[in-house]
Amino acid sequence: MSARIIDGKAIAEKVRGEVKEGVAAFVAKYGRAPGLDVLLVGEHAPSIVYTRNKEKAALEVGIRGRLHRLPETTTQAQLLEQIAALSADPSVDGILIQLPLPKHIDERTVLLAIPPEKDVDGFHPVNVGRLSTGQDALVPCTPLGSLRLLDEAGVNLKGANAIVIGRSNIVGKPMAQLLLGRDATVTIAHSRTADLPALCRTMDVVVAAVGRAEMVKADWIKPGAAVIDVGINRIESADGKGRLVGDVAYAECKEVAGSITPVPGGVGPMTIAMLLQNTLTAAHARSR
Ligand code: NDP
Repeated sequence: MSARIIDGKAIAEKVRGEVKEGVAAFVAKYGRAPGLDVLLVGEHAPSIVYTRNKEKAALEVGIRGRLHRLPETTTQAQLLEQIAALSADPSVDGILIQLPLPKHIDERTVLLAIPPEKDVDGFHPVNVGRLSTGQDALVPCTPLGSLRLLDEAGVNLKGANAIVIGRSNIVGKPMAQLLLGRDATVTIAHSRTADLPALCRTMDVVVAAVGRAEMVKADWIKPGAAVIDVGINRIESADGKGRLVGDVAYAECKEVAGSITPVPGGVGPMTIAMLLQNTLTAAHARSR
């Protein structure tokens, strides 16, 4: 039987609708819109598109979105100054630094400069620590969106065996924490994991965040398992334009899985939707 396809586009639309309503209620209560400030340093072409999309998505739900474009030559000290100004500005609820930064700027130093309560990407060690100790935290958008997809698909996480393939700080580790927080029994796999296919076959929930095109095959999947594909990989196509695929061999895995996300149209659209949700969450937390 073919799996239920988890429609990330539709669910992201639903989240944006919820945020829009939440923003209207926030404005009615506090007399101001939540503010999201996105900082982009340099001319990295995909980052220009991503940051414009973030600003646009914010404005669409009533968030005061603002994109700051800084030249490639911006020094670390200048960037830190800008962050300090936004940190001190009460109308700013969320500060997002678009990565990657130019090589002369130390990413870790810059991310530490964002006050944890405005860290809508959830990368600050304080938010990482809060998440891992089960406290309210701003959680990285992609894993937060992946969890929402599992919830929308009605996947039972309590007591489920879940594997997260990938241990990055922005996806794999926070995803594992979220699943643990929902009472799943969690395995984190990585490039040194022994016999990953056999391990994976025992799992009720599979989250793939690897960056390897179609690595997870149908015979890795336990029949009926829920499969969340975070991967975005561009591969060659017959027309020479290339096409996007995930870390999961979608066509074959959907014949075995119980539910599965496509690429594109799965996790991808959730990321910006969760950024908007995080901005509203941050605004509420700061207004208490
Ligand atoms: P990273 O490159 O930071 O991490 C990849 C992880 O995969 C590492 O932990 C690595 O292990 C592990 N890995 C690599 N090869 C293997 C292998 N053969 N078997 C098992 N594990 C392996 O990637 P990210 O976490 O940043 O991103 C992962 C994917 O998700 C990418 O395709 C990225 O484009 C996509 N992505 C999608 C987003 C979205 O909005 N949908 C947002 C963010 C990312 P080790 O630690 O041992 O090296």
